[in-house]
Amino acid sequence: MLERDAAVTSPSLPRAYPMVPRRGSGALLEDVDGNLFLDFNAGIAVCSTGHAHPRVVEAVGRQAADLLHYSASDFYLPVYSEYAKALAATAPMAGPVRAFLTNSGTEAVEGALKLARAATGRQYAISFYGAFHGRSYGSVSLTASKAKYHAGFGPLLPGVLHAPYGYCHRCPLNLSFPDCGHATVDWLTDTLFRYEVDPGEVAAVFVEPIQGEGGYITPPPGWLEKLKAVCERHGILFVADEVQSGMGRTGRMWAIEHTGVEPDVLIAAKGIASGLPLGAFMARDELWRWPKGAHGSTYGGSPVPCAAGLATLEVLRDEELLANATAQGELLLEGLSRLRRRFAWLVEDVRGVGLMLGVEFPTGRLAEEVQLACFRRGLLVLEAGESAVRLSPPLVVTADQCRTALRLFTEAVEEVAGSFPSPDPATPAAEVVGG
Ligand code: PLP
Repeated sequence: MLERDAAVTSPSLPRAYPMVPRRGSGALLEDVDGNLFLDFNAGIAVCSTGHAHPRVVEAVGRQAADLLHYSASDFYLPVYSEYAKALAATAPMAGPVRAFLTNSGTEAVEGALKLARAATGRQYAISFYGAFHGRSYGSVSLTASKAKYHAGFGPLLPGVLHAPYGYCHRCPLNLSFPDCGHATVDWLTDTLFRYEVDPGEVAAVFVEPIQGEGGYITPPPGWLEKLKAVCERHGILFVADEVQSGMGRTGRMWAIEHTGVEPDVLIAAKGIASGLPLGAFMARDELWRWPKGAHGSTYGGSPVPCAAGLATLEVLRDEELLANATAQGELLLEGLSRLRRRFAWLVEDVRGVGLMLGVEFPTGRLAEEVQLACFRRGLLVLEAGESAVRLSPPLVVTADQCRTALRLFTEAVEEVAGSFPSPDPATPAAEVVGG
């Protein structure tokens, strides 16, 4: 299978390790050889309700038998507006909210960018170093998590500017929080708006409330609030990209809800339909200043993904999965923090909220080794950013599964520590951390 794949698929596909899934249930995945894995990737933060949740499978089957496709762009699909209404009701925005449905996160970002320009009549957009917003031309121009996403593809979309993110563990300005006073946000005013762009020409700031692909980076307290204040001062739209952080993953429906910031536009995808291709961007009613025909999609918000989206919302609510994400997230964070104290020279940082957790290692090579050592033990995790490993299990994950994952992750770190011992042999691990 690996050989066939290598011969016929695009060499650009990153392929973390040779995982060949056959079927899944909840947080468990079975590969084609019958090996069982604990899936702490959830298909890259997609399978929010776990693999093959019976209610999602039932909704998909029922909708498929009724109507596989009709384009919601040119005709009226009841399931489209039913889902748009249900999703919009979750948006942390005051007043009536509309939603546009897409097939992916990238497309939702593209649509939000077009809407931001159309709504403001302004041209520029700002995003952050470490950000991942997708791979089509508009979204990849906003993306700045790795130079390889741009290499060879220029020129990119004009009018996109990047700013440093609130990444305290490796501060881009070499400062420390809280003494810095959120200097990375001040950088917008003191540098970008001073030397490069008039803020009156900026349509939107695109920001992940927690950076995903960039390394599961949580900005410091107050950072997003201060960013929102800058946006408000200049009439810039605050666009929260919650493709990875949304749909309950952090214990709230949207990660931005941990801050009280009200976004102007909210982008969602990944977990919203438990694995079916569906994305969305939402905004308050008065921002949709574009005429009939200005934006549409043949497949976006197709009936089967919409049915899966509705079932996903119901399962999140009925099974109280947001509360579960909080509880299991705390269990995992506690275990990972213990690991950090034990291997202080190797596990540099442990961070995150709910089931969006990142563990930072000194180098990308070590993060990759830990990822592979986990895979060999039956735990699926994925690298992120320069040198982090992300844990993003389905929201149905149980405490027992989290304890097993912690044990396997610890064993993986122990294995890697064997070839990367403490630089200070006189200070054994337990003493570094005070036991
Ligand atoms: N935005 C964020 C925050 C993401 O994490 C991703 C994908 O990882 C995207 C956008 C792009 O989504 P998709 O891969 O569905 O196009």
